[in-house]
Amino acid sequence: GFRFIARLLQQDSLSSVALDPFPSALNARAKRVSKVTSTNYALTSVLALLMDASPRLRRGLIRRVITDGDSISDLINDEEHLDRYIRQNVIPSWHPTSTCRMGAAADPGAVTDPSGRVLGVSGLRIADASVMPFCPRANTNIPTIMVAEKLADTVLREDRRS
Ligand SMILES: Cc1cc2nc3c(=O)[nH]c(=O)nc-3n(C[C@H](O)[C@H](O)[C@H](O)COP(=O)(O)OP(=O)(O)OC[C@H]3O[C@@H](n4cnc5c(N)ncnc54)[C@H](O)[C@@H]3O)c2cc1C
Repeated sequence: GFRFIARLLQQDSLSSVALDPFPSALNARAKRVSKVTSTNYALTSVLALLMDASPRLRRGLIRRVITDGDSISDLINDEEHLDRYIRQNVIPSWHPTSTCRMGAAADPGAVTDPSGRVLGVSGLRIADASVMPFCPRANTNIPTIMVAEKLADTVLREDRRS
């Protein structure tokens, strides 16, 4: 699975938009900064700004602060290293959302409009957990059903109007 994703990330269509991918793990440091505190809020806000400031700075932060030096290419080129990394870091899944987030047309991070239509692609809507504008701090099953019900209702209403 790791190698498959690494190969996908090398495709031109993905490497042009998925900048500087890196292996991430729920290590002790990640657990510490995941706690909701004002210090962590300030720390992660500053880090997020720095990550977006320049590619050079981002790569340095990834290597020195986030991954402790492990890179995807190091791992896929060393069978034992990859094996060890996965055994040490594999965890059950969290509740990932917001990979195609909904937003205003002027929002550069938005993938869909508020009706779930994919911006710039006709005839395609998204109605699942991926459109949530940000990752909620709660379980996602019922909110996903709510998103689906709401967007289904929107489609029906638009159909009735046309
Ligand atoms: C182990 C686990 C436990 C969880 N426990 C809880 C919980 O206790 N409470 C809670 O609120 N949430 C829980 N969640 C989260 C919740 O299940 C998800 O947030 C929710 O299901 C997301 O819904 P979705 O429709 O976005 O995606 P999914 O439910 O993942 O639906 C995607 C669907 O698309 C299908 N699919 C994928 N690729 C294709 C393709 N190429 N062609 C056709 N179909 C495809 C898949 O088979 C799947 O049916 C849990 C998640 C996991 C993984």
